[in-house]
Amino acid sequence: MIEAPEGCRRFDVITIFPEMFAALRDFGISRRAAERGLWSLHCWNPRDFTEDLHRSVDDRPYGGGPGMVMLADPLSRAIGAARRESPASRVIYLSPQGRALDHEAVVRLAACPSLVLLCGRYEGVDQRLLDEVVDEEVSVGDLVVSGGELPAMLMMDAIIRLLPGALNDADSAVEDSFVDGLLDYPHYTRPEDRAGAKVPAVLLSGNHAAIRRWRLKQALGVTSLKRPDLLAGRVLSKEEKLLLEEFRQESRLATFREE
Ligand code: SAM
Repeated sequence: MIEAPEGCRRFDVITIFPEMFAALRDFGISRRAAERGLWSLHCWNPRDFTEDLHRSVDDRPYGGGPGMVMLADPLSRAIGAARRESPASRVIYLSPQGRALDHEAVVRLAACPSLVLLCGRYEGVDQRLLDEVVDEEVSVGDLVVSGGELPAMLMMDAIIRLLPGALNDADSAVEDSFVDGLLDYPHYTRPEDRAGAKVPAVLLSGNHAAIRRWRLKQALGVTSLKRPDLLAGRVLSKEEKLLLEEFRQESRLATFREE
């Protein structure tokens, strides 16, 4: 089992598009986990914290240039309101300039009972607000999307999967890619024979020890082919070394047969 503290995870999301979060709240595993009371969502729309007639949340950038910048004050009030309800929260700004989100970061964030997630829009957020309230910036990759909502949902979904009771079969999270430092092994389902492409015989054998060994061999082999960097820092056990060598020999043999 993956260690994560008990209790409900609380997410306070600062967003001008709260409706987008229905995608997470109303579908699949995250929906079921919410129904089981494992996490709760509280959206705070900065527009509700404006004081002008037009309910402005953005303005032109000082120094000129393209686009608009999110105003500090409505965001500051929205974050203040969220923190009054959840004072111990860590404030995360979803940003392409942040630390890359990976499995390790998700496990660390899953240990926080509550998070305030600040979703930027336009060219971003007035730097003074970021300097004032943000504990950490998190990026979902070296690319730019239009707003922080999708990155926030990506991060929330990854956290929710780790909460005890979120998955029907808790073991499936343990066997996912990256959890043990390896990529996942290949999966098969019916039919056994699909136009001549057969399910590996060992998976039909009912021999659990052989299946475990085959899966570990595949996970090691697939990782060495697709993500050798993951293996570079890993001290392989005697069994793992043997299985990886077997995988390589079998791959060489298969290539030789094809030629
Ligand atoms: N001008 C900004 C820059 O180049 O760094 C990009 C602004 S982006 C169009 C608008 C918002 O989307 C950002 O404030 C951030 O909240 C979110 N965002 C965009 N790309 C992201 C990424 N890779 N990871 C996390 N959030 C991202």
